[in-house]
Amino acid sequence: MKGCLQFFAAVSLAALHACVTGRCARSGRAFLAAYARSRASLDPQLTAARLQSCRVCPIFFRPLATCGTPLRRGLRSLGCHCHMPTKAAGPANCWAYDETAGTNHIGWPAALNSFPPAAHV
Ligand code: SF4
Repeated sequence: MKGCLQFFAAVSLAALHACVTGRCARSGRAFLAAYARSRASLDPQLTAARLQSCRVCPIFFRPLATCGTPLRRGLRSLGCHCHMPTKAAGPANCWAYDETAGTNHIGWPAALNSFPPAAHV
């Protein structure tokens, strides 16, 4: 039950923040894609290892189990604001891994990512 409440609180907050910042459509598509991917079952041990890294990451917002959050000033511009138990359960990359093109010193170990780092940095 706590996980469901966290999920809906995280999704609602991310949607509100995306609309306020004018990124509704892009964020909505990203959420739907991530949610659909999370339905594909991954190895539960991989999911657990990813979440273990998130829990000690300075960007992780524990109350909602999200990667960053608009609720805390220092974390507003960091993270993907995803609900990590959902994101980590499907094919995905750590936000820090993508943002630093794989040179991150925080976040998931490189081997836990599903894709090569994004090339947008
Ligand atoms: S940066 Fe990576 S490890 Fe940190 S909370 Fe986000 S996804 Fe998890």
